[in-house]
Amino acid sequence: MVNRCWTEINLGTIVQNLNIYRASAHEGMEIMAAVKADAYGHGDVEVSRVLARAGVSRFAVATVQEAIGLREAGITGEILILGYTDPRDADLLIRYDVVQAIISEEHAEAFCGKRIRAQVAIDSGMNRIGLDADDPERCAEVIRRCAKEMSVEGIFTHLCVADDVGETDFTNGQIWKFRAVADLVADLHLPYIHCLNSAGGLWVEPFGNLIRLGIILYGLTPGGTHPLPKGIKPALQWKATVSMVKTVRKGETIGYGRTFTAERDLRVATVTVGYADGYNRRLSNRGVVMIRGQRAPVVGRVCMDQITVDVTKIPDVCAGDVVTLIGDGYTTEDMARDIGTIGHEVVCGISPRVNRIYIEREEQPN
Ligand SMILES: *Cc1c(COP(=O)(O)O)cnc(C)c1O
Repeated sequence: MVNRCWTEINLGTIVQNLNIYRASAHEGMEIMAAVKADAYGHGDVEVSRVLARAGVSRFAVATVQEAIGLREAGITGEILILGYTDPRDADLLIRYDVVQAIISEEHAEAFCGKRIRAQVAIDSGMNRIGLDADDPERCAEVIRRCAKEMSVEGIFTHLCVADDVGETDFTNGQIWKFRAVADLVADLHLPYIHCLNSAGGLWVEPFGNLIRLGIILYGLTPGGTHPLPKGIKPALQWKATVSMVKTVRKGETIGYGRTFTAERDLRVATVTVGYADGYNRRLSNRGVVMIRGQRAPVVGRVCMDQITVDVTKIPDVCAGDVVTLIGDGYTTEDMARDIGTIGHEVVCGISPRVNRIYIEREEQPN
């Protein structure tokens, strides 16, 4: 079948990003690859396989289902579930040899006696999950209790503004609080103490022995104002096809709700992508696609399966032309800005209806 709408994912670029990141990040840190949410929309199995070949042996996911998917595809490295798993699924954690984050005292209690592998989450200021680092003694008590009831392999916390230079004091405060907890349980000799995400591994005071690397692996920015290390590149392009081209006369309207009126005669191309593919409806009358290397603005509303774009200024556009929705000329970050979100949500939002095409070629760094 010929592709209607697809992403091209360069696995070579992901490996290259990993290597550039390793060379730029704090020294002596192991890398755990965050492959949750289907590797931020890039395909968790394919990404994990290529990273395993590049020497990564630890992977982080969000759910027990994601962990099982990786195991069933033959991924043998360590898999850590970063968020909540219902304690009734403890048998699955054991059967698939998955490490579970313990997110609260109640969560710890419920897993007592189940002999799972675990890491204890510490809340150092994000107020999402974890034991409250403002009471380090209590944290230490709970960690010790866990260590009797399950195999505790580490503790971790999550930084919430590591990409923002203006918030260095807050971030350092998070790390100090976490360090206080780590110091209290130093005698347990836990193998992994970690607090750094993509941004933290580059731009904040190093602490711990592992970086949980997500967004930069995929070549996207965590946000903030820091430039990415030189040579880091997006691994994903998103494409579709021109299905037809027509003239829309001055005064006519385009699409549902008649939100766009042609102010002169236009050439309009219909393109094979819609919100059911994850193409955000907020791109109606706002987004841009690239055809023949030139920008074509979205005109009218994004439909479920199709969009319409103005190609008046692009000569010779015809049915069958490849349309770049994300790539050179209009990036994930451009799309994110146009819909008021972050690149993470854009790539995670590309729906399963969109085929993935993998490219293994390694590129030369810029
Ligand atoms: C997703 C996630 C990461 C990776 O974060 P990036 O900013 O994408 O590098 C690290 N730690 C936790 C707990 C996460 O949920």
